[in-house]
Amino acid sequence: MDLEHFDRLTHRRLNPLTGEWVLVSPKRAERPWQGQVESVTGPTAVTYDPACYLCPGNLRANGVRNPDYGSTFVFTNDFASLEPDIPQRSIDEGGRALVVAENEAGTCKVVCFSPRHDLTLPRMSLKEIAGVVDVWADEYVGLGALPCINYVQMFENRGEMMGCSNPHPHCQIWANQTIPSQPRLEQDSQAAYRNRHGSCLLCDYLQVERRAGIRIVCKNDSFLALVPFWAAWPFEVLLISQKHSRDFAPFTPSERTALADILKRVTTRYDNLFGTYFPYSMGFHPAPTDGEPHPEWHFHAHFYPPLRAATLRKFVVGYELLAAPQRDFTPELAARKLREASEVQQDRF
Ligand SMILES: [Zn+2]
Ligand SMILES: [Zn+2]
Ligand SMILES: [Zn+2]
Repeated sequence: MDLEHFDRLTHRRLNPLTGEWVLVSPKRAERPWQGQVESVTGPTAVTYDPACYLCPGNLRANGVRNPDYGSTFVFTNDFASLEPDIPQRSIDEGGRALVVAENEAGTCKVVCFSPRHDLTLPRMSLKEIAGVVDVWADEYVGLGALPCINYVQMFENRGEMMGCSNPHPHCQIWANQTIPSQPRLEQDSQAAYRNRHGSCLLCDYLQVERRAGIRIVCKNDSFLALVPFWAAWPFEVLLISQKHSRDFAPFTPSERTALADILKRVTTRYDNLFGTYFPYSMGFHPAPTDGEPHPEWHFHAHFYPPLRAATLRKFVVGYELLAAPQRDFTPELAARKLREASEVQQDRF
């Protein structure tokens, strides 16, 4: 692959999972910045916070008390955005699909990774993270089996910059009746690719990346973490299972431990990249749970971190809101910096 011509000149790259183009303008990274400088708050030092609604034994806002849990804890969100058993109604005012609405059933859950208020994924042991992977797999299978649930979206928002007000290590699961927009785009792209080439989009992409090597961050026997060729976020990472698998369910215990291992290593590298508690939104994209076989779907996870330097964040404004995603330095440079970051967890974050 010859990227020489693209390295310093503005170009656009195709995201084959969504069909969107990303504008890459390497020279723009040299521009002076007089805008907002972020202060990134670190994780808390207290192992238990009496005011935290996720800590064991504490009272939540709706009056329910958390059990004195010792590892993971899952509960239905007290202020869920999605609820099951709602009446199914739809409107199409004028019949031309101009003013359309439908009721959407679903459920929202919270998964606490640990009873410890001060832990983060990189600070948890492999065994503890593997316990969280087991919960994700169980929830995916359990929620996905419900007739009203056709997609199970799990995501973690980490850091105040990503709107996470509670440092207690946790993620959310929003499971709903329809396949949401992003998985829907990826569904259509993966199905179209399979129809056209008779193979899996991400299996083929993995081969390209294994050959190129320059965008790989780290890997183990079962998973590979890379900065995708089409990355829009400065240090975006795509985590792909090395073996074709449509979701969590077929993973063996050793593959689940391998997933825990790669999550710990990627998030540790993130913290070490700028020596800061690195904010991100991450989430898994397993196959839809709509009863279809989905041979085209390849299990993966996305990390979308907003920082482009220790105190500088990427803003999604202007051109990005109105035209297309854009990035400054190349994904290859981002991958190199992440490769150079240590996998040794530091005590201060
Ligand atoms: Zn807590
Ligand atoms: Zn595949
Ligand atoms: Zn995806």
